[in-house]
Amino acid sequence: MREYLTETLILDKTAANENDLTADLYTKELGRLRAKITSGQKIISKLSPHLEPLNFSLIRLTEKNGFVLADALTQNHIEPFSQNLKLLAAIREMIFSGESDSQLWFWLKKSLNSQKQISFSQFLKILGYDPKLASCQKCHSKFVKYFLVPDQIFVCPRCVFRVPFNMLLLEL
Ligand SMILES: [Zn+2]
Repeated sequence: MREYLTETLILDKTAANENDLTADLYTKELGRLRAKITSGQKIISKLSPHLEPLNFSLIRLTEKNGFVLADALTQNHIEPFSQNLKLLAAIREMIFSGESDSQLWFWLKKSLNSQKQISFSQFLKILGYDPKLASCQKCHSKFVKYFLVPDQIFVCPRCVFRVPFNMLLLEL
């Protein structure tokens, strides 16, 4: 059994049943991962407040047939402004790697803590989608203004009206 102590951004938490909780995490040391809390209601009640989405928390994990969350402590809670929730949703849809990415980690910390406008252009560039090199997937215009997360394509302001409303769209 291995043990890890790492800072993490909480992406989501879901209750499987009364005694089971799964936390969806983007960690500094291990990238994206899911961890279970299975020690019963008392432990869940204690840890749950530290596992709110948009929390930066320090967590202790053990690994043996998957990750188990042993402890969590809130370091900072980020306000659920719409751009912050959008960034969280984009991370959930775009990042699956269980490997650390220090550039992304420090950018997330800086961007979410600064309370300024989030630069989705920078976010996409770190993930390997450089808006400067992109063109609209639908009309090939070089003037891209949006990134459609489910399809992972850039779109220009003219073509954005053809994108369904409920799809996750990042404005550059
Ligand atoms: Zn276009």
